[in-house]
Amino acid sequence: MIRTLIFIFLAALVVLSTVWIANHPGNLSVVWGGGRIDIELPTALGGLFLFMILVGLLYRLWWSIRRAPKAFWNARQLRKRERGYKALTQGMVAVAAGDANEARSQAQKADKLLGEPPLTMLLSAQAAQLNGDEAAAKRYFNSMLKRPETAFLGLRGLLMQAERDGDAVAALSYAARAKTLQPKTPWVLSKMFELQTQQGQWQSALITLDQAIKANEAKIPYGVRQRPTVLLGCSIEAENAGNRAAAMSFAEKAQKEQPKNLPAIVRRLQLMNEEGKERGIQKLIKAVWPHSPHPTLAKLYAACGDQADALMRVKRFEELRELNPDHPESRIALVQSLIDANIWGAARKHLEALGLENPSSRICRLMAELEEGENNDMEKVHQWLVRASTAEPDPSWSCSECGVSNIVWAPLCGHCGALGSLEWGVSEKVAGSLINPKITALPANSGSAAENY
Ligand SMILES: [Zn+2]
Repeated sequence: MIRTLIFIFLAALVVLSTVWIANHPGNLSVVWGGGRIDIELPTALGGLFLFMILVGLLYRLWWSIRRAPKAFWNARQLRKRERGYKALTQGMVAVAAGDANEARSQAQKADKLLGEPPLTMLLSAQAAQLNGDEAAAKRYFNSMLKRPETAFLGLRGLLMQAERDGDAVAALSYAARAKTLQPKTPWVLSKMFELQTQQGQWQSALITLDQAIKANEAKIPYGVRQRPTVLLGCSIEAENAGNRAAAMSFAEKAQKEQPKNLPAIVRRLQLMNEEGKERGIQKLIKAVWPHSPHPTLAKLYAACGDQADALMRVKRFEELRELNPDHPESRIALVQSLIDANIWGAARKHLEALGLENPSSRICRLMAELEEGENNDMEKVHQWLVRASTAEPDPSWSCSECGVSNIVWAPLCGHCGALGSLEWGVSEKVAGSLINPKITALPANSGSAAENY
């Protein structure tokens, strides 16, 4: 619009000037070298106008000729870059398609055409990996570390290589370096956490977990719910390092975060038991029995007080049962105390109440113990032990990920390595692996409690 107005204005100016000159005729005289030339003013002005146009055109031509080599060079470079980017794209497509030869060919082409290593090094590394040349891929990844813009990608490549090689220590080292570059990247935090837990670096894993929670990485699969498991791992790590106070503190925190967390409860009781805190043990067991009855708690409860006074123990287990009267564990714990006190009739009554049509393995063993103690009937003892071998399995620490049952609890499943997956219940598979005796070992005076925890 503005251009149109300017054009109209200039056209009007030219027309008005022409009209004005036509209305005011005159001559332009040039005296040169003894001669004189008279030119009419409109002709002189027209000639001047044409001369200026000619000069302008000549200048334009000269400028174009002067710039031609540079323009030609620029156009050539642009075409080269376009071909380079095309090769880069085709290389990436080849990597995605798993075409090793094409990927390598396009990587070399892109490298030659673009001449920008940051853009092509990753493709070259991936192409090398596809060709099975891990050493070359490692060289490319290491080269990427030297440039700030590619260092993170290089570390990721090296980390994945280390994991494939089974070198967990190197993988963790690369993950730590990647974390210094990108502290809030979800996969870095996730990988760090995974590697730290796998290597038993629980206190470091706790720091990583808290950073992930703080960064609000809700997509990270572990999250807040795994914190008690990690705290229990910290407790084990602290105890192994000889710091019993820290071990207890971590276990207490774990139970504080999840009051009904059975592994945390047992861990606390185990540490208290090692320090001979009988009153504290009894108090804690009574507090949690209404919602978390467990055979190990019963064993620890039995180990408290005067071991010679079997009748007193029966009385204490009757009190305990009243806290959760309908739960089978309450009755089973009482039955064991009755058998220990040779109170056969009451023991049999409670076992019958638990159901003898399809008893679990544990009930069968108690019946065998009863038949031996009360009647010394070895035939029936044998029958019950045979039934025990084929009966319903007893509850154990079953993995929610792989379904395998572990004899003892540990932060990681002994079969599949899943974190925090062991739950108390009945599983059809039994791995029979002893994962971490430190967390589960019970004191000598607690009998055979270790069989279930
Ligand atoms: Zn598992």
